[in-house]
Amino acid sequence: ASPAIARVWFDGELVDADGPRVGVTTHALHYGSGVFEGIRAYATRDGAAVFRLADHLERMRKGATLLGIAFDPDVAAEAVVRTLRANGHRDAYVRPLAWVGAGSFGLDVAGHAQHFMVATTPTPVHLGGARTRLGVSRWRRNPARALPPLKLCGGYVNSILAKREAKARGCDEALFVDDDGFVVECTGANVFAVSGDRIVAVEHADALPGITRDTLVATCGAECRPMSLAELRDADEVFVCGTAAEVTPIAALEEREYGVGPVTREIAALYARLVRGLESMPAAWLATA
Ligand code: PMP
Repeated sequence: ASPAIARVWFDGELVDADGPRVGVTTHALHYGSGVFEGIRAYATRDGAAVFRLADHLERMRKGATLLGIAFDPDVAAEAVVRTLRANGHRDAYVRPLAWVGAGSFGLDVAGHAQHFMVATTPTPVHLGGARTRLGVSRWRRNPARALPPLKLCGGYVNSILAKREAKARGCDEALFVDDDGFVVECTGANVFAVSGDRIVAVEHADALPGITRDTLVATCGAECRPMSLAELRDADEVFVCGTAAEVTPIAALEEREYGVGPVTREIAALYARLVRGLESMPAAWLATA
């Protein structure tokens, strides 16, 4: 059973979620100098298991290194597992965050405190995913040469702007397209297209190298290549994927409507079995919690 007050990991120990206090001069609060992950745990036959935990923490380590934040993936993995256990969560979203803490208002992170937290929230068991309406964003994705596609906190302002614009236009989600008309990604998910029996995982230098995308490429034989917006519009089926989004079918891209796709449905079902340990996969992909 879950404890009455959720527990979070904060700087080396489990504490009540309403316990930690973060100073108003926190560098990350002012400048976005933090790095996070979005991870999921699933109930499997052998108890809760975290899907591709080591890969998520390796991506987080890259972001931490760029920001000069000390980060040990093994310590973080232990914190994730202990937080899940403390909360009795099996199907859960897991949010680790490492950030630059209080100090001066200078941009140099040297000399500032550093912190690390993990929170877990229960997730409903997948219900088949609402179909999403995509709008082409007027915003460009952060270019990789200006801000590498990692889960750096400040980078997500770009996603927030695109999400706000999409919602204001009555869409559910924004699709980023580059200056040359190539598809980048969504605000928190990577894009796939299905044409006939060909599955394409859209490739773009400015897109986050998604772990869900990598999982699907490895298991359903998708081809990785760049794709123009025009080609995406012409595809038979479009879906987006991410740790939180899992495999989400796209109902419409602007005025173009897509039918309920049989290939997307099959891939969504495959992914749902994979994350629950019901398909063969590399042993390292499921970390028992
Ligand atoms: N793109 C962005 C911008 C994201 O935030 C996410 C979610 N982490 C993804 C793609 C999908 O990545 P993953 O499959 O690793 O969750």
